[in-house]
Amino acid sequence: RADIPRPILDVLLRLRELGFAAFLVGGCVRDILRGVAPKDFDVASSALPQEVQGAFKKVIPTGIQHGTVTVVIGGNHVEVTTFRSEGDYLDGRRPSSVTFERDITQDLSRRDFTINAMAYDPTGRELVDPFGGLGDLQAGLIRCVRSPIERFSEDGLRPMRAVRFAAVLGFALDPATRDAIPPTLPVFKKVALERVREEFVKLLLSPRAELGLTLLGETGLLEVFLPEVSRAGDEAIRLARASAQVAPAEVEIRLAALLADLVRGSQARDIALRLKFPTKVADTVGLLVEHARLENRIGEADPSLRRLLAQVGPGLLEPLLAVAHARIQVRQPARLSEVLELQERLRALLAAKPPLTSKELALSGKDIMAALGIGPSPQVGEATRFLLEAVLDDPTLNESERLKDLLKTWQAGKGG
Ligand code: ATP
Ligand code: MG
Repeated sequence: RADIPRPILDVLLRLRELGFAAFLVGGCVRDILRGVAPKDFDVASSALPQEVQGAFKKVIPTGIQHGTVTVVIGGNHVEVTTFRSEGDYLDGRRPSSVTFERDITQDLSRRDFTINAMAYDPTGRELVDPFGGLGDLQAGLIRCVRSPIERFSEDGLRPMRAVRFAAVLGFALDPATRDAIPPTLPVFKKVALERVREEFVKLLLSPRAELGLTLLGETGLLEVFLPEVSRAGDEAIRLARASAQVAPAEVEIRLAALLADLVRGSQARDIALRLKFPTKVADTVGLLVEHARLENRIGEADPSLRRLLAQVGPGLLEPLLAVAHARIQVRQPARLSEVLELQERLRALLAAKPPLTSKELALSGKDIMAALGIGPSPQVGEATRFLLEAVLDDPTLNESERLKDLLKTWQAGKGG
């Protein structure tokens, strides 16, 4: 109770004072019981949305048709949702109707897993746990509330959530819950890929990503949304999982570490786009995968390493080094020191701030046109690329007089 923010307690106390039932529910109860600070606190109450609105001075009708309102109390926002049950799921994605309930058990029974289906009243220190959530929390088990086959057939995202929670919490799937995944995959296939991706990202960034990926493979979920990975050979997929696990927990880095040795950069980008990642994330993943095999570049001369810096861009050097490091640690630990040396060379080359783009050339587009005595034309682009190649080879050339000299020779060489 000491850890529960004052505004949350105030909301619970006020609702109870008016004779309503009010509890903390869902993820925060699970987290409190495992001794972890909850990310957010969800309050559920028997009070109808209008009754909640009547109980507080300032209330925002956030999602009133679903029973959720936001109470503004001392500058804090507290979401309060009316106890509810759900009508039949008709399409494997959402319930056909929502009914408000006066009993907390009704509300808990629509929830996905026993560990997520507990309610706690910190004001009276009462735990409502009709499905054995506390026991499963202690045993480290993800178990569906009621029949797994039915629950997975109602909402196709739930199997993905089961595996996500297993990875995030380091738990096992209860056998009946696990066994219900393969037969309900047709329902999972109907789920929007952005919802799948949200759960996948949480899994991938969890400390047990490798376990999560293994479970996704074993249950057949991976084959549905990442066949490029699930179809790789056993050893390739094992190494890919391990690479993702040892990489720093950033989505672009872990996704690239997973894909780097299974697909090409352009395919990795397409996969990220298919999973509805933002284009910028997809571009990054594509570049990281394309250049991830740094061990192939050991011993390359500075100009070619500067070209690598120009291709990935200075902002992606560290993510690239992280992906390369993860892969080599898992695949060729004997070469780790060589790769680390190359990483230091790349860092040193970047620290010298060499010109890497045409914007950084000592001559502007206008300067180049003047030097060549021409107006805007495709030749300007050609000349710019020529100069950029020259300064990537030798950054000391990046002075306006030297570049002008180079241009003259270039123009003469072209017979112009
Ligand atoms: P996290 O800490 O990752 O946010 P959480 O338990 O709060 O975990 P949410 O996705 O925020 O997870 O959902 C909040 C609660 O709503 C869950 O604890 C669960 O009780 C319920 N819930 C969420 N999604 C579903 C679903 N698809 N089916 C049934 N219940 C669900
Ligand atoms: Mg949550």
